[in-house]
This record gives sequence, C-alpha cells and structure tokens, in this order.
Amino acid sequence: MPVTDVVIIGAGAAGLMCALTAANRGRKVMLIDHANKPGKKILMSGGGRCNFTNMYTEPGNFLSQNPHFCKSALARYTQWDFIEMVGKHGVPYHEKKLGQLFCDNKSSDILEMLLDECQKAGASLHMDTSVQQIEKTETGYSLNTTLGTLDCTSLVIATGGLSIPTLGATGFGYQVGKQFGHALLPTRAGLVPFTITDQLKELCGELSGTSVDCLVSCNDMSFRENILFTHRGLSGPAILQISSFWHPGDAVEINLLPDHDAAQWLAEQQSERPNSELKTLLGEIFTKKMATLIAEHWFVSRPMKQYTHAELADIANRLACWQVVPAGTEGYRTAEVTLGGIDTREVSSKTMESLKSPGLYFIGEVLDVSGHLGGFNFQWAWASAYAAAQYV
Ligand SMILES: Cc1cc2nc3c(=O)[nH]c(=O)nc-3n(C[C@H](O)[C@H](O)[C@H](O)COP(=O)(O)OP(=O)(O)OC[C@H]3O[C@@H](n4cnc5c(N)ncnc54)[C@H](O)[C@@H]3O)c2cc1C
Repeated sequence: MPVTDVVIIGAGAAGLMCALTAANRGRKVMLIDHANKPGKKILMSGGGRCNFTNMYTEPGNFLSQNPHFCKSALARYTQWDFIEMVGKHGVPYHEKKLGQLFCDNKSSDILEMLLDECQKAGASLHMDTSVQQIEKTETGYSLNTTLGTLDCTSLVIATGGLSIPTLGATGFGYQVGKQFGHALLPTRAGLVPFTITDQLKELCGELSGTSVDCLVSCNDMSFRENILFTHRGLSGPAILQISSFWHPGDAVEINLLPDHDAAQWLAEQQSERPNSELKTLLGEIFTKKMATLIAEHWFVSRPMKQYTHAELADIANRLACWQVVPAGTEGYRTAEVTLGGIDTREVSSKTMESLKSPGLYFIGEVLDVSGHLGGFNFQWAWASAYAAAQYV
C-alpha cells in the first residue's frame, strides 16, 4: 500500500502548482486525476493562448461570499511570481489588453512548464486514476483508488468546478467537502454567454458575429468591453463578465453609446445635420448592418429634423439604457467558471486547510472564489495552490 506525504486529487492548474511547490519543499507528492491528460482547461484557455495571469490582479477582481478570504493567498503568491516562473522557462508572452497576459504561441507552453517543474521536483503524476472512497485515519487520509489504496498525511482537493464536463469537470470536490462536514454554497455558471428567447432573438440572429463596444451593467456592476451577438443570444467579454453578477429574471442594461451622452448627441445631430437619416448617423458609429437593423427594430428611421423631442428622448433611452432580460445562460456546457462551492468561512485563508478536518485542503475553483474574466481565475489557482503547498 503506497504511503506518501501528500495526495493531490486533480491535475489542473491548482493541482499542478501545488504538486511542484510542495515537492520542491521536499514533500513526497502523488498527483492523481481521472482524466487521460493533465491540464485540459489550461490547453483550452484563452482561445488556445492561455491568459495565465493579470498584471492588475487584486482582491476586488474576485467574487466570493467571503470577499476577504482571497487576500492573504493573493498577496503571498502574486502575478509577478508567476510571471517570473514563465520568464525563467523562456515562455514568450504579451499583454493583450487590460493587463491580461497571454502566451505568444500556445497554452501548451504553460502546461509543459508546470509538468516540467513537477518532474524536476519529483512529484509523481498518475492519470486515469479515480478515487472511490476516502477515509480519515489517525495519521491522515486513506484513499481507495483504481491504483489501489493510497495513504497520506495531507489530502488536497483540486478538482475544480462544474464547468465544461467534457474536459473532466465533476462535482467530486463538493462531495468530499460534504463528507467532511463542509457547507456548500449554491453553484451556478459564471463567465458564460446569455441565451435570448423573446423577440430579441431574431435581432441577435441577424447580427450574429457583430461585436460592439458597450457599457454593460447589472446589480451595481458595470463592465466596458465588447458584446458579441450570437444565434443563441449575447456573448463577448462584457457579457461574460456581467453574467457572473446576473440572476435569473434580472435585466441587463446595455449602453450602446458609451462614449457619448446619447440625448446630447442626438440633439447635436438634429441641429447640425437635420436632413441626415438616423440610420445613416448610427452607421457612422456601428456597422451599417447593425444601424439598419436597430433602426428597423426599434424606431422608424427618418431625417433627424422630423423627430420630436419626446421621440429623441425615447431613442436616446433605447441606445443608452437598452434593457435586456436574458432567458438564461448557456450553463456549464460553455461557462468558464463555477460560482459558489466550498464555503471559505470553513477553510483557513492562510493554509487552505479545512477547519473541519485537519490535513484536508481545498484549492482553486472548488472553493467559493471566482475571478473576473482576464487571467484572474488562473492567478487564484496558482496563489491558493502555493499557499496550501507551504503547509501540506
Ligand atoms: C474554455 C475555458 C477557458 C478559460 N480561459 C481562462 C483564461 O484564459 N484565464 C483564466 O484565468 N482562466 C480561464 N478559465 C478558467 C480556468 O481554466 C479555471 O478557473 C482553472 O482551470 C481552475 O483550476 P483548478 O485547478 O481549480 O481546476 P481545473 O483546472 O478544472 O482542474 C481540475 C482537475 O480535476 C480533475 N478532476 C475532476 N474531477 C475529478 C475526480 N472525480 N477525480 C479525479 N480528478 C478529477 C479534472 O480532470 C481536472 O484535471 C477558462 C475556463 C474554461 C472552461
């Protein structure tokens, strides 16, 4: 029966980081995963170029019912620490926008770097390995697995959330939490496109593929980025961001003219270009197709001089405060993260150790800590993993 210091379940971002860091401390580490390959989400991430961190990471970029929880780990392993590792391995990268760092080449550069570090540090990796049962022992934990029984002093749960089941996601971490007396906060899909089923669906379909810079707001949060119309509804970075703050039934407000005061802009156009048609003027801001469709769907396009003040006020309201009530989200099938999870009020923010069962640790997305879009989720995986690795 193999006996080891540390067993980590889940060879994703957090599991790999924890394995290499703990092994570098001289701990004997076994990293196990039920999938056939490690780090599948790393490979898929950032459109294949892995947005591995964000230069402006701070606690305010994370959602959690316990917003202070992430602070300690983020301060002890920062974006600059990860950037240093990336630099040491000669992985070329660039800032795309808003502090988001992406690989120049492929996400596999990041995965290979982590696997290389694990190997050098002596952590052993076991894929295609499932855990059937976990028991607490006097000295730690005993796991019944497809590799046989594994005994360890520290057990780390790094199995992530529920998003993208086809990449190996399961609710396993939540079951383990429950088994050892942890409270679970309700889970839901985050960073996910909206589906639209009302009359707006037709407009979304007609504009499918069109991207436009907007200010999107919901529940006191706003994001200024692009939205993307799709056949199913709305996507794009601004929509993914706001989806994490949205609850069923909520309206999302979209300002299609974030650089203008819509009412003032329309009034100016009316006095300066009275004979121009509204759709022509909108076509100078949006694509011609979008301007025409908006005009067809929302108001009759006429020369500007023909609108009354009340009509212009209504048009301004449409453009700056467009209210959309999504039917739902695309769910875990396409969500980048799972919101909710293991309640962090029962986990040490210093060590990531369970306050319910000594020697049990939770890291990464399985915890109720979710980042905004832009490299923050990986930074949480690295930082929480590093914190736990100092104590396992
Ligand atoms: C398409 C996509 C793109 C993304 N792009 C980015 C990005 O560019 N930047 C960013 O910061 N974040 C991104 N994210 C989010 C990021 O990938 C996750 O937040 C991060 O991977 C979480 O790390 P983790 O180690 O906690 O979980 P995961 O990386 O999900 O790893 C969990 C591991 O546990 C294994 N596992 C699950 N259940 C079991 C079980 N029962 N037994 C054994 N093993 C199990 C899985 O096979 C997996 O290997 C993206 C997510 C998706 C889905």
